[in-house]
Amino acid sequence: MISIKEVNKNFGNTRVLKDISIDIDKGEIFGLVGHSGAGKSTLLRCINGLESYNEGSILINGKEVKNLNPKEIREFRKNLGMIFQHFSLLERLTVYENIALPLKCWGYSKSKIDKKVNELLNLVDLEDKAKNRPKQLSGGQKQRVAIARALTLEPEILLCDEATSALDPKTTKSILELLKDINQKLGITIVVVTHQMEVVKEICSKVAILKGGEVQECGDTEELFLNHPRALKELLGEEDV
Ligand code: ATP
Ligand code: MG
Repeated sequence: MISIKEVNKNFGNTRVLKDISIDIDKGEIFGLVGHSGAGKSTLLRCINGLESYNEGSILINGKEVKNLNPKEIREFRKNLGMIFQHFSLLERLTVYENIALPLKCWGYSKSKIDKKVNELLNLVDLEDKAKNRPKQLSGGQKQRVAIARALTLEPEILLCDEATSALDPKTTKSILELLKDINQKLGITIVVVTHQMEVVKEICSKVAILKGGEVQECGDTEELFLNHPRALKELLGEEDV
């Protein structure tokens, strides 16, 4: 579904992604993990077309991301939901209005919007908060709203950039449960960018470890923990100096 081949990306003279090759299958929860500055967010932004790359290819459903024409880009964006560490909600709008926003932008009718928003409020368990504003919500609740909003246009892929990094462990767990639920119920492919190995362990079937813009390890999460390579030890702070 997402096929990344030998991707190189430079910012000025600095190469921040080096020969990245990763395949992500439909319906998978895939983890991209690594220390700060490893290139995780940059790779995610290359996948969603917000950032271009210098060499290599990224195919989504067989189509090269950087060659899309304006009409294709519109459809392409609809197919990719995204959530972030700091939720990116609009403070002046209610929970309902935040979730409704993408549907409004796409010109859906009021009744269709109402049906979809209520369905999503139910999915993320926030029916009683529809009229609240973001500042009246906890961090976990805000992330639930962001998840609902990312799902309004029924994307096939959900990209999560440090979606649980601002949350305490218990709330993190509940958000990860929700992501698992979404993956299973709706069959959405999820890419999880994180520096927390616990997150990967909890929900990702496959994982790539990035360091200095390179893929150090890539494969099944279970096998990675079984084999426990140096790259994993380093990430977990188990490396002897
Ligand atoms: P973090 O865990 O801190 O979010 P990350 O793995 O997401 O880190 P990136 O944000 O992808 O890392 O950054 C990778 C490298 O690219 C870093 O060295 C960073 O300084 C550089 N970089 C990122 N964005 C830009 C930009 N717009 N211009 C120049 N350099 C950039
Ligand atoms: Mg980042």
